[in-house]
Amino acid sequence: MGKKYVYVWNKNRVEGNSKMKDILGGKGANLAEMASLGLPVPPGFTISAEVCKYYWDNNRKFPEDLKSTVEEAMRELENVTGKKFGDNENPLLVSVRSGAAISMPGMMDTILNLGLNDESVEGLAKLTNNERFAWDSYRRFIQMFGDVALGIPHEKFEDALNEVKNKKGVKQDLELDANDLKKVVELYKKLYKEEGKEFPQDPMKQLWIAIEAVFGSWNNPRAIKYRQINEMDKQGLLGTAVNVVAMVFGNMGEDSGTGVAFTRDPNTGEKKYYGEFLTNAQGEDVVAGIRTPKSLDELKNINPKVYNQLLEVMDKLETHFRDMQDIEFTVERGQLYLLQTRNGKRTAAAAVKIAVDMVKEGLINKQEAVMRVKPADIEKLLHPIFDLEELKNAQYIGKGLPASPGAATGKIVFSADDAEKLAKDGEKVILARPETSPEDVGGMNVAEGILTSRGGMTSHAAVVARGMGKTAVVGAEDIVIDLKNKVIKSNGVELKEGDWISIDGNEGKVYAGKIKTVRPEGLAGDISVLLEYADEVSVLGVRANADIPRDAKVAREFGAQGIGLCRTEHMFFGPERINKMRTMIVSKTEEQRRAALEQLLPFQRSDFKGLFEEMEGFSVTIRLLDPPLHEFVPESEEQIKEVAKMIGISEDELRSIVKDLEEFNPMMGHRGVRLAITYPEIAEMQTKAIILAAIDLIKEGKKVQPEIMIPVVGNVKELTILKESIKQIADELIKENNVDLEYKIGTMIEVPRACVVADQIGAEADFFSFGTNDLTQLGLGFSRDDYGKFIGDYIEKGIYEKDPFQQIDREGVGRLIKLALDGGRSTNPKLKVGICGEHGGDPDSIEFAHLVGLDYVSCSPYRVPVARLAAAQAAVNYKRGKTVNY
Ligand code: PEP
Ligand code: MG
Repeated sequence: MGKKYVYVWNKNRVEGNSKMKDILGGKGANLAEMASLGLPVPPGFTISAEVCKYYWDNNRKFPEDLKSTVEEAMRELENVTGKKFGDNENPLLVSVRSGAAISMPGMMDTILNLGLNDESVEGLAKLTNNERFAWDSYRRFIQMFGDVALGIPHEKFEDALNEVKNKKGVKQDLELDANDLKKVVELYKKLYKEEGKEFPQDPMKQLWIAIEAVFGSWNNPRAIKYRQINEMDKQGLLGTAVNVVAMVFGNMGEDSGTGVAFTRDPNTGEKKYYGEFLTNAQGEDVVAGIRTPKSLDELKNINPKVYNQLLEVMDKLETHFRDMQDIEFTVERGQLYLLQTRNGKRTAAAAVKIAVDMVKEGLINKQEAVMRVKPADIEKLLHPIFDLEELKNAQYIGKGLPASPGAATGKIVFSADDAEKLAKDGEKVILARPETSPEDVGGMNVAEGILTSRGGMTSHAAVVARGMGKTAVVGAEDIVIDLKNKVIKSNGVELKEGDWISIDGNEGKVYAGKIKTVRPEGLAGDISVLLEYADEVSVLGVRANADIPRDAKVAREFGAQGIGLCRTEHMFFGPERINKMRTMIVSKTEEQRRAALEQLLPFQRSDFKGLFEEMEGFSVTIRLLDPPLHEFVPESEEQIKEVAKMIGISEDELRSIVKDLEEFNPMMGHRGVRLAITYPEIAEMQTKAIILAAIDLIKEGKKVQPEIMIPVVGNVKELTILKESIKQIADELIKENNVDLEYKIGTMIEVPRACVVADQIGAEADFFSFGTNDLTQLGLGFSRDDYGKFIGDYIEKGIYEKDPFQQIDREGVGRLIKLALDGGRSTNPKLKVGICGEHGGDPDSIEFAHLVGLDYVSCSPYRVPVARLAAAQAAVNYKRGKTVNY
């Protein structure tokens, strides 16, 4: 016997289970699992995703024995349902649905009502005693089959349908009777002929065409794009599985219906049943957002028995899967069927709340909770809201459903393509459509937000926007989105393409014009609880890069355990300081320089004191001056005038000094430790300021842990020279003030040479902090300031997978880090090591830092929460010391 490709489930036997998602896809695996749990699932079978792989690997051919296995499975389906495929008395109808291991909502094909033909339509009419229903199902099938499997344009079917409606003078599909629908079927068949296609009457033929269409849809452009956007390609997916499931009908009258239910609110995470349904409708009516659905609560009044049964099933599924479930159900003449369950997509806020609540409910443990939230979700929660002042004066134009939170402002575009074009030019856009479809995902991905005039909270626009973390307002029915004339009309306001519009995804409100957005401050309750769980799990510490007390305060609120980098040069941009700094830079003599430094010292001292205060009890790493000098030289005439006056030289003389300071390659020029080597007085002043600030606080009874860091070190002698002078000044001040103060002296590691001689440097340093920005710049030889011009091509051609300045290039820079770490620790086992480049806030780089065995990462205050979660996830996923995956 060949490989097993088909897995059945029915009341007699179940072959799959929820752990087999790789081959059965999420949908198939969970249908099997639900069947095993004894829940009401229509019977069916899944054709494995391995067949999809085979199909694409073998020039669109199927494995040899697939045909007979599928035929056998169909016979079994006929037996368990007591129906017959293509029968004119009691026909079996099936749906043919895609379903990969990772959900790709709406990206691949699905065909419903398969098995209908000129004969079985009569059978369906007899069976249901409802001729209209049978013919409506038939015309829907012919339409879907033509559109999905044979590529006949959807609009042509709509035109044919409208022709019949117009002739009869009616507007709604529901106003057509069986005879009208027979005419529609005739027109549809004619359409097939005109398109040079044939509508197969043989149900088995229909089935094979449908199966092939679904496997084929794995590689349709929108599915490919979706996988790209969601970075699914490296997850080793085999392809999609195909589920063939006995049809149940939600459109059999008022005692039938179909809906989507969540076991918790996917927007807020609240523990309450949530969902939408439509009576007398099929599944795609809900998802397509064509009719606006009713809330699940109303089902209680319409059919309390089904409602209660549904709640029971929801509880059972959530407890079984230990996560919030998103369930598709159909009620056929008062009988509940479950068509799908999966872990529900949720907003970032809901993800956090659900994870924390489930720990409290004892459903999951803290480690699991930490894994339930993506680091990027945490970032979303710190996402913008509208500036309240500007909002007061904003022109409100209408309201829709608050489908995905946040606040977004941008220029109106009416198509996904336009969104992509404008976004490429750096424009902020809001994509406005009556409803969205899977073709629009590219445009949705680049838009600031999405606005639709139709559809419910589970419509395509809502689900996809939530998944992407995009602000969305959907179903804003007052707002006319006129694609043809490219205008939006609402409440007497008319907005054209390119006009600004603002949408509030928390409230569902829409405003004309541009409204400033602001980031929310602080962390709300559930996030901080989750991050406490994260801290319990993590091994890696998280510090912040902060230069001023205000940032340090934010960093503490976000849970930073100290400062990993204070860039002291950033402290000199204030109006009273900058010219003193410029004076210092252009000083010709040591005396002039010392005078300027003397003036800068009080500023530094009070800044450091502020930082130490905010970070009391934690380490604060202060880096000595490291600017490429060009960042500071006076440039404008006004600056020249002022600085010349301050140091008492002529403007011309100053201009010539400035000229002398010019460097061809300032990033590799007179910066970092080199400044301190040539002008020791700079490091002396800074050391004094650091130590005096620390002494001030110690005298106030506070705890201070200063760490003095020397940048751009490449040779151990640079460090030893500096270290000697720092120690001398610091120890003298400590002695003079008779206080107990411990301080550390360490280096940035950001020059490749430093990595190579890290054993020598480690022997002299208390700590290393990887400056991965410069280490990437110098390691790859990519200028930090210029690489934007070519990195796109590099990524496109796969030379680097990701921007190496955002995510550590593990196999290059990563190895330099490992080399330095091993070298440093070989001579100094107590060496404390961290990262303070931008990578310190990037989840993948944080994972690397954990794997390689660093002590901490340091990142911007707003990324601290992200880093805390990423550090915890790395700890759950990997034990330290495990071989690093470069
Ligand atoms: C670095 O190079 O990574 C770093 C932190 O220093 P800067 O960005 O200030 O050069
Ligand atoms: Mg640097």
